[in-house]
Amino acid sequence: MSTQFKVLNPATGELVEIVNLNTEDEIKQALKNGHNAFKKWSKIDAHTRSKLLKDWSRIIQENKEDIAEVMTLENGKPLKESLGEVTYATTYIDWYAEEATRIYGRTIPASSETKRIVVSHQPIGLVAAITPWNFPAAMMTRKAAPALAAGCTFIVKPAEETPLTTMKLVELAHEVGIPHDAIQYVNGKGPDVGTLFTDSEYIRKITFTGSTPIGKLLMRNSADTVKHVTMELGGHAPLIVAEDADLDFAVTQTILSKFRNAGQTCICANRVIVHENIVDAFSERLTKAVNKLIVGNGMDKDTDIGPIINEKGYQKIFSQVNDAIEKGANVLIGNEYKANIEQGSFFVYPTVLKNVKENMTIMQEETFGPIIPIISFKKIEEAVEIANSTPFGLAAYFFTNDYRVGTYLHDHLDFGIIGWNDGAPSGAHVPFGGMKESGLGREGGSEGIEPYLETKYLSIGHFDH
Ligand code: NAP
Repeated sequence: MSTQFKVLNPATGELVEIVNLNTEDEIKQALKNGHNAFKKWSKIDAHTRSKLLKDWSRIIQENKEDIAEVMTLENGKPLKESLGEVTYATTYIDWYAEEATRIYGRTIPASSETKRIVVSHQPIGLVAAITPWNFPAAMMTRKAAPALAAGCTFIVKPAEETPLTTMKLVELAHEVGIPHDAIQYVNGKGPDVGTLFTDSEYIRKITFTGSTPIGKLLMRNSADTVKHVTMELGGHAPLIVAEDADLDFAVTQTILSKFRNAGQTCICANRVIVHENIVDAFSERLTKAVNKLIVGNGMDKDTDIGPIINEKGYQKIFSQVNDAIEKGANVLIGNEYKANIEQGSFFVYPTVLKNVKENMTIMQEETFGPIIPIISFKKIEEAVEIANSTPFGLAAYFFTNDYRVGTYLHDHLDFGIIGWNDGAPSGAHVPFGGMKESGLGREGGSEGIEPYLETKYLSIGHFDH
């Protein structure tokens, strides 16, 4: 059995680094260490934990360029996006460094004058995270920062494609004095590490970001030990352009939402639903804007769209586009591919498809690529029906300046994140998460620390004055 795996650059297929896989014994020992460390870390006062988190954020910023370069090499995203992600990742640490000192309890008026009722919170214990390759820094800090702030200890298994960024961030946490066993990483195959995590009695919570099928599996496997779970799963975001929308603005925001990380984001616009009276004008302007995007190696400073992460992702995009064309979609731009499959490099050129129908796979399944399928609607109710017609409920976008249309859409779209004239709604200060099969729980904002805390209620009887 292999004890190592290769991290490859998806732009060139070149070897970036060889990483050691942890053995089963090593992972079990790490879990035990994390469990033991919890006893100490959870007792450190919140102000000290807050300061350590601030130091962690600072040292990440000091190493920003190096981290971003590693991220681009292992993930492929343009360097400017990697730099943006490093900063985005630190905003979670900054936010939860502040929240650490604001974990309040409360008192409840008792039903008898001889009683006092106090509600307090305590950290839940060792937390295990499994993270995806598409945001190797931010998906980890979004979990580690609230966990550590709450007083939990933390262990992460990064995706096999992109372990290096995560490893570097954890090492920097140790460098500023966060105890070694309070935050750890392990490397291994998803199913193997997943089973060790879900079977472990030391772990009290699993927090996962990744695909819906793996999320369901982890939930099932967490049942035997009744672990807490937070699930940030797949999306299939609709983007609705109403008849009155500012078209140029809608085009700019569609590009912003769609093409970050080559369309490999869970909240990127995946189904563009445009009023029939403006669909031609919108498509034309969108196509012109897409034509300006530069595809290439993320290390080149002009690149807007880097490679697709691996062959599986590349083939999925290819087959969704082919299916749409076979069923009658028109290609306005794109449908070009440049891959060296043997070498391991995969590029897909940004593509706009018109005359898309609901029976096409691209309208039913997440694409994870730089493809925009456009479907038209007559009435706003129809747009909502199309938008809500999948099992996913992560993010939705709409463009309108009519407050009646806007409030109707807000009220009727079953999505956890809604951007109204806003193609970039993420942030450390907001509750990010999905409805339906897109997930359970929220990350970010004041909500994001709650899943790391138990609520304990104390009833004091015979309270004598
Ligand atoms: P994935 O295949 O589910 O992998 C995600 C992580 O799960 C990786 O670390 C992977 O490890 C691990 N894994 C795989 N099989 C496992 C198993 N049987 N048990 C335990 N862990 C296992 O997803 P992905 O393709 O990397 O990521 C893309 C998906 O993530 C998309 O669906 C996207 O929408 C979703 N996502 C959601 C959010 C959100 O906030 N809702 C954010 C980002 C991404 P290996 O690398 O070893 O396989």
